[in-house]
Amino acid sequence: MHFFARNNGQLWAEGVSLATLAEQVGTPCYVYSRATLERHYQVMDQALAGVDHLICFAVKACSNIAILQLLARLGSGFDIVSGGELARVLRAGGDPRKVVFSGVGKQPHEIAQALQVGIHCFNVESEQELATIERIAAELGLVAPISVRVNPEVDPRTHKYIATGLKSSKFGVAADVAETMYQRAARSKHLHIVGIDCHIGSQIMEIAPFVEAVGRVVELAERLRGQGIALEHLDVGGGLGIVYRDEAPALPEQLGEAVGQIARRHHLRLIMEPGRVIVGNAGILLTRVLGIKSNGDKDFVIVDAAMNDLIRPALYDAWHRLELVGASEDRPLALVDVVGPVCESGDFLAQDRQLPTCQNGDLLAVFGAGAYGFSMSSNYNSRPRSAEVLADGSTYQVIRSRETVADLWRGEMLVG
Ligand SMILES: *Cc1c(COP(=O)(O)O)cnc(C)c1O
Repeated sequence: MHFFARNNGQLWAEGVSLATLAEQVGTPCYVYSRATLERHYQVMDQALAGVDHLICFAVKACSNIAILQLLARLGSGFDIVSGGELARVLRAGGDPRKVVFSGVGKQPHEIAQALQVGIHCFNVESEQELATIERIAAELGLVAPISVRVNPEVDPRTHKYIATGLKSSKFGVAADVAETMYQRAARSKHLHIVGIDCHIGSQIMEIAPFVEAVGRVVELAERLRGQGIALEHLDVGGGLGIVYRDEAPALPEQLGEAVGQIARRHHLRLIMEPGRVIVGNAGILLTRVLGIKSNGDKDFVIVDAAMNDLIRPALYDAWHRLELVGASEDRPLALVDVVGPVCESGDFLAQDRQLPTCQNGDLLAVFGAGAYGFSMSSNYNSRPRSAEVLADGSTYQVIRSRETVADLWRGEMLVG
């Protein structure tokens, strides 16, 4: 469900003409729909209505402070993986008491920063990290709230780069290691046990892997309860998939129902860390055709957005729907590769795609670009990063201006 739709053949973001927007802001440009973003948050929130819960939006999916601000206003908490993301949440008006801090490589200064602002908890990823958090809390005279990230060793049946709960993955710890960590934390003056968590991967289509994973996690929670170690929350991570093409992901209602039941049965508050499902289809990437070329066997549509703007096709072989912004019913279809200007053969937005015949100057919309789009963008090939725009009813606002060339070498120095 999203609010990018055609009107008189032309593509609009809510009540904003994408053709007009591209004229005024330039391309490439990320465009988010506020109504879509807010609706997705509310659907997830309502899916958990019957249980005591907290949604912690995974900041890495889309970290623009305006997006975080809108979610914070709806009551969202945040799942962060760095001190930079924590700073963004605070800048956006997010409540630090609704922040969970995940990630396998938390640095001492980031741990101190999170302790000082009073986050909800650290999702601890190793025994060594637990010791580091305890030491820093002791130095600061504070108590660190902790949850151990359990690796439930389930296969989420998704792309191997975004499966995070397999035994071979770098994330979390095995249940027996987690148990020892909890026993140690229970004896510490500077650690306070608040929960238990897992996160098994991303773009997951079915409910079964979640239920299997969470089942293993609550098994450990019950064992701990038997030892007098009480937990307050169960954090089931993020990972629910979305429709890019013709996938049929489970609905938030179904996931909410399944994990909500488990949380209620075990008298635990439920935390969820959705990213993609909130913002993925709330954003598109707008790009302009620079030229058309053929090498005899293959026809290429060259556009001004590249892998530095949207790396998902190159990194995960991801499929994004492309549509011409203008009316195109009268154009014959052609089989093309849509490629960017970057000097890599992996620089494509689509391969072997049937599209209405494109011409120089045409605008293309790349759908499903809201999650892991701008937030994974880079300056490769010294390309300034694109603008980000929020469409809101019949108006829009630039929420990140296009980088300038001078931004590219800010911090660099010529030799003295
Ligand atoms: C990336 C990540 C998420 C969000 O995953 P989505 O697939 O975007 O929902 C949640 N929790 C953790 C720990 C993550 O690393």
